[in-house]
Amino acid sequence: MILTDNELFKTNHSPLMPLKSSFLMEHQIQLSIKRDDLIQPAPSGNKWRKLKYNLKEVSCLANPKLLTFGGAFSNHIYATAAAGNRFRIPTIGIIRGERVEPLNSTLDFAETCGMDLHFVDRNTYRRRNEPDFIKELKEKFGDCYILPEGGTNHLAIKGCAEIVEELEEQMQGLPDYICTPCGTGGTISGIIAGLASKKTKAIGFSALKGDFLRKEVNNLLRTYQKNTVFSNWEINADYHFGGYAKFDSILIDFINDFKRDYDIQLDPIYTGKLFYGVFDLIQKGFFPKESTIVVVHTGGLQGLNGFRERFGKIL
Ligand SMILES: *Cc1c(COP(=O)(O)O)cnc(C)c1O
Repeated sequence: MILTDNELFKTNHSPLMPLKSSFLMEHQIQLSIKRDDLIQPAPSGNKWRKLKYNLKEVSCLANPKLLTFGGAFSNHIYATAAAGNRFRIPTIGIIRGERVEPLNSTLDFAETCGMDLHFVDRNTYRRRNEPDFIKELKEKFGDCYILPEGGTNHLAIKGCAEIVEELEEQMQGLPDYICTPCGTGGTISGIIAGLASKKTKAIGFSALKGDFLRKEVNNLLRTYQKNTVFSNWEINADYHFGGYAKFDSILIDFINDFKRDYDIQLDPIYTGKLFYGVFDLIQKGFFPKESTIVVVHTGGLQGLNGFRERFGKIL
């Protein structure tokens, strides 16, 4: 089966919603939210954008089968399983850690979608990008299309660059800033690539502790477009709240207040930290007055179920 452009591209532009708030008025900032969480039912969010052209590639293979990697609560595993189900592409998920019964809601959904789950210990999982390990996987599962963790590769960048194209149509121009959360850096790389030669600045807010993302994004951009220098971007690593999937009561209160004030749900892994960071920078005067900012809501709300299973209904 080959996915026609029609089937694949039938999603509409995700909505762009101006956020009305006295806080923003006070600071003379215009902020809109690109609601990628509303693209469609799963697969949605930035994971859909990253999957889209990869799915097209897989569907052209004689024997389409997709293998990918993720943690037990991975939004990427969830989205890939949903896509496999919808486009009838067999999927294999290499999952970090032991199988725990009953499966959490993410993995339960993935298995229900028909994803073949294989659990590996942390040391094995660390080898996920090594050619030797990929070779072993292909021997074990047969020839398959290998999608790296988080779905991040050059086709993911191509998919995420479309965020910029959509914004240009929706705004008849571009904002001064586009802000997005970062995990592997695929989404921000796509936005940076889409912004080439524009004067909009891209800011990625890291959900992880450490400074490695800048280098990683540079690597990704090089694999996407070797001879272009992309300069108008930065990674902010000040709002990780202790590291990946770490949180505190300040973040939880912020997410709950945001829901109450604007009726928009954020998640504690990515978008909560992103919006907290953007609002804090506005408060501190980082953005010049009259700036226009688009913040990308990358989705990830499926993860809330697993979060509540572990920590209770604090969100
Ligand atoms: C995976 C994910 C991200 C991180 O995207 P990268 O392309 O890996 O940087 C951000 N937000 C949400 C909701 C995600 O699920």
